[in-house]
Amino acid sequence: MKIAFIGLGNMGGGMAANLVKAGHEVNAFDLSPDARGSAESGGCDAYDDAKRACEGVDAVVTMLPNGAIVKSVYEGDVFGHAPEGAILLDCSTIDVATAKELAQSANAKGYDMVDAPVSGGIAAATGGTLTFMVGGTEKAFARAEEVLQAMGKAVIHAGDAGAGQTAKICNNMLLAISMIGTAEAMNMAEKLGLDPQKFYEISSQSSGYCWSLNAYTPMPGVGVQSPADNDYKGGFATALMLKDLRLAMEAAETAGTKTPLGAHARELYEAFAEENGGLDFSAIIKSL
Ligand code: NAD
Repeated sequence: MKIAFIGLGNMGGGMAANLVKAGHEVNAFDLSPDARGSAESGGCDAYDDAKRACEGVDAVVTMLPNGAIVKSVYEGDVFGHAPEGAILLDCSTIDVATAKELAQSANAKGYDMVDAPVSGGIAAATGGTLTFMVGGTEKAFARAEEVLQAMGKAVIHAGDAGAGQTAKICNNMLLAISMIGTAEAMNMAEKLGLDPQKFYEISSQSSGYCWSLNAYTPMPGVGVQSPADNDYKGGFATALMLKDLRLAMEAAETAGTKTPLGAHARELYEAFAEENGGLDFSAIIKSL
């Protein structure tokens, strides 16, 4: 398949290289010449014009910072430049409303489109082990699956357009809340004189069991190896968690649903991100 890939940053760079490894021909575009250079080393054909990168392709994949940029790229560079009938896949994390609006515009112009945000960080993007949560019609999903399989270990159809973004922000709101809860409990156990490792051993096999405790223990030297054991470097940046919590709170307001813990998690991450946006999100334990 011939695929245009737009947005070759921390995530997109590795994802585009995995498409090449799977035998696809990839036209790569990014505003940054450095990113284009790395994509070329990964076997892509680098373009300095997004519109030209989209000409004659079967599919377009985007991995961009936010909804406003995604909208401007599709409206300015993809629609009308990618051949009619191409499948369009936006893998960025963006707001649900923009994802739905773009899918509608794409359909009206003769394209199939899915929102396909990912779970898994830079290592999973490079290793081809991302999880994709996909929103779109059955037909669009079936077409998108072949492209996504080359970049991930799981591709799940969440529902209609926007459902992928909905799944992503609901999951990450839950993750933020559970990380704060885990961090609070570990700190309190320690302050009360309980060995944190004992707490981990007990709670990870009791009803406190959860991903934040069992698979991503936020205290250095306790539980499993995690960014905590590397001074909270690498992993999933606090700034990105805050971005997802903001999107979640916007969506909660639109849907008229109460999310008191989600709102509180956003406040805590907002305060923590002021000075620590680059640290892994589990570093929130230091502020509690
Ligand atoms: P990044 O900032 O490293 O990469 C974004 C790239 O987009 C940059 O190379 C930038 O030059 C390029 N870009 C910006 N505007 C552009 C435009 N108009 N045309 C072409 N290229 C443009 O970001 P990232 O970490 O790769 O994240 C990308 C997306 O993936 C975001 O939506 C993020 O929320 C999501 N995500 C990231 C992670 C992670 O761990 N980094 C995990 C899950 C999801």
